[in-house]
Amino acid sequence: MKVNIKWLALGMVVSGALLVGMLMIRSQPADNLQSYEYNMKPKSSLVSSVAILSESDVITTEPIVNPRQVYTYENMVEDIYRLTDRYNGLVTNEVIGESVDGRDIYAVRLGYGEREIFIHAATHAREWITTNLVMNQIDSYSAAFVNSEKVDGFDVRELLQKVSIYYVPMVNPDGVTLVQKGADALSNSEYLLKIHDGNPDFSRWKANANGVDLNRNYSVGWEQAHADTGEPGFQNYKGPSPMSEPETQAIAAFVKNHNFELALAYHTSGELVYWGKNLPEDLEDVSYELATVFGEETGYPLHRGGSGGMFSDWFAHEIGAPNLTPEIAPYAGPGPVPLENYNRIWQQNFSMGLLMADYILEDTKK
Ligand SMILES: [Zn+2]
Repeated sequence: MKVNIKWLALGMVVSGALLVGMLMIRSQPADNLQSYEYNMKPKSSLVSSVAILSESDVITTEPIVNPRQVYTYENMVEDIYRLTDRYNGLVTNEVIGESVDGRDIYAVRLGYGEREIFIHAATHAREWITTNLVMNQIDSYSAAFVNSEKVDGFDVRELLQKVSIYYVPMVNPDGVTLVQKGADALSNSEYLLKIHDGNPDFSRWKANANGVDLNRNYSVGWEQAHADTGEPGFQNYKGPSPMSEPETQAIAAFVKNHNFELALAYHTSGELVYWGKNLPEDLEDVSYELATVFGEETGYPLHRGGSGGMFSDWFAHEIGAPNLTPEIAPYAGPGPVPLENYNRIWQQNFSMGLLMADYILEDTKK
């Protein structure tokens, strides 16, 4: 009996050490951020029962995120760690998967609430300004939380103790890097140039590093994906099979591991909001109502439709919850939205994360 207890104790020590090791690995920023000086305490959501963060816990609430710039994957990763460090416990992060070219895909949790909603951005590479927007939301909501400030009438402190907002700020880090820095920034540059007809200007790229359009790769309606090209390229290729890509697999696994009551999938083209294509019948009314609320706040007209293979219908069918696909900028042609549009985008969307969090409650806006 004593021997058994001894082995049990040893087992606990070993698994404890493994857990600490895992947390430490999770807490490391990307290799190219070695200059980053913040201490790397475990920030995983595995850490529970943290005290609610107060004004006295934070030295400054000056903005961390600068959204008025070409915002790279490296900018995002550094800002995620700075936010996680400053707003300790209010903001946590985890790596939910790895892109084709080996970049970590990050999720950020904001808030302490048991209720959960999901917001993601930059599924389409050239639409990277959506990352600027959601990182700006995380930063400003965190500051408002500790300062007990209202944002657009929302009591952020109260709201984020009831609801946690989960963000994946950059679903497609390879594609964003390709658009911003060119093929040399990726390890499969020769392949990318080949499937882009030798054109070194990747500013119009929407796909991932396999040339698959991630918003055509989801399993619901995949057979009917709109304008599928049948081969890898800068847009619309739905992939060799449903959910073939590591990025869509990471999102699907992450979503299935939560109890999200609502989702926003940020895209850029057209200042409108799509509210589903092939919805389950029981989501028709609630999706339309959600879109109406979102449309009234942003000024975006409502659109029914989209393509097969999109996140939107997959989420509706697999999770059974409403979701929206906002397109947050005037159509910019086949390239990134110019940064001059950012102020307008922010004005229309700065409180939308809170509006969505509030929506699943009994309307707590005061
Ligand atoms: Zn898009």
